[in-house]
Amino acid sequence: MDTAGKVIKCKAAVAWEPSKPLVIEEIEVAPPRVNEIRVKIVATAVCHTDLYHLYERMHKDGFPVVLGHEAAGIVESVGSGVTEFKPGDKVIPIFASQCADCLFCKNPKTNHCVQTWSEVREDALTAPDSRLSCKGKKILQFLGTSTFSEYTVIRKYNLAKIHPDAPLDKVCLIGCGICTGYGSAVNTAKVEKGSTCAVFGLGAVGLAAVMGCSTAGAKRIIAVDTNPEKFEKAKIFGATDFVNPKDHSKPIHEVLQEMTQGGVDFSLECVGSSAVVESALLATVPAWGVSVIVGYTRVQKFTARPTDLLSGRTWKGALFGGFKSKDGVTDMVQRYMDKKLMVDEFITHNMDLGQIMEAVELMKKAQCIRVVLKTSPQ
Ligand code: NAD
Ligand code: ZN
Ligand code: ZN
Repeated sequence: MDTAGKVIKCKAAVAWEPSKPLVIEEIEVAPPRVNEIRVKIVATAVCHTDLYHLYERMHKDGFPVVLGHEAAGIVESVGSGVTEFKPGDKVIPIFASQCADCLFCKNPKTNHCVQTWSEVREDALTAPDSRLSCKGKKILQFLGTSTFSEYTVIRKYNLAKIHPDAPLDKVCLIGCGICTGYGSAVNTAKVEKGSTCAVFGLGAVGLAAVMGCSTAGAKRIIAVDTNPEKFEKAKIFGATDFVNPKDHSKPIHEVLQEMTQGGVDFSLECVGSSAVVESALLATVPAWGVSVIVGYTRVQKFTARPTDLLSGRTWKGALFGGFKSKDGVTDMVQRYMDKKLMVDEFITHNMDLGQIMEAVELMKKAQCIRVVLKTSPQ
């Protein structure tokens, strides 16, 4: 059936209120407008950032919303002004934009883009002209993506075309967690061959950071997590040492400094906690250590003394692993197809969209790495 130009009715997981379970509803997805693409989502996964918005941000006016931003799908139809996509193309949505025309996109130093959702909207959840609606109500789009749905509409700046043979129920993870962690090590920290690294937090983002450190040639990679069940996985991605902060009475940065005779060369915070951000900085060698903030929190603040940095440390952060988003995703999928990037190893569970609350609970309890939810057959 040709659906182009028509409203599509399909299933989606709607977050009606903060901190309340998502509800599978029939929603209506309007056709794409100028520079937009309507995508049939085939597979999607829950990332910690979805939970953060549902449970912690508690945004007063931000609901109802369809969450979800880590996914892969197939182009259903395109709006006017779209020439680089056609129906049938395999694609990955990305919360970070790449318009290719703005001051930032033209500068190799950054992956910022003036089209990024948070730049063009008042905040990440506001979407006054969303294409989604349910029971006569507008449903906000999350980060310009909203992938906990069988169909969604995405701007061309937030969609990467990928290899036509890529398995969508695997490469969906390249849409956030894998690029974020891997790129934070390779692009942002710029991990060096023979170096010593520490990665705090071993969810999908942290494990991808471990893989990035390993690919960059680090000789020692210390994996830190309060859940020791994560260590076995971290080993597969290249971690060499394992530390559970709960096993130590002294601050964790002191433990790492002792283990490394003075500190690690590179540290990556992949938890989303200001206390861990502080530990990760202090765990680096004072003379040249580089610490990268990857975890997401808007509410908490962190502190450091000027002398912690005056000695020569660098403190930095990145969104989406510093990758120019569309180029990065296309390249990372190609790497996977060339067997140079692990992806399948991140998947601990496979479910259907209808089981999304099971996936959310597993993520909340850190009992999974990634749960891939099939939204519709490939
Ligand atoms: P996750 O919940 O799967 O993993 C977090 C891990 O941290 C868990 O294994 C947990 O046991 C561990 N942890 C908790 N407290 C700890 C502590 N005190 N010390 C060490 N480990 C601890 O989450 P994820 O999906 O891998 O995401 C990780 C973070 O990255 C989140 O904050 C998320 O919002 C953020 N994120 C940032 C970007 C970006 O562009 N910068 C993109 C995606 C996700
Ligand atoms: Zn994410
Ligand atoms: Zn741009």
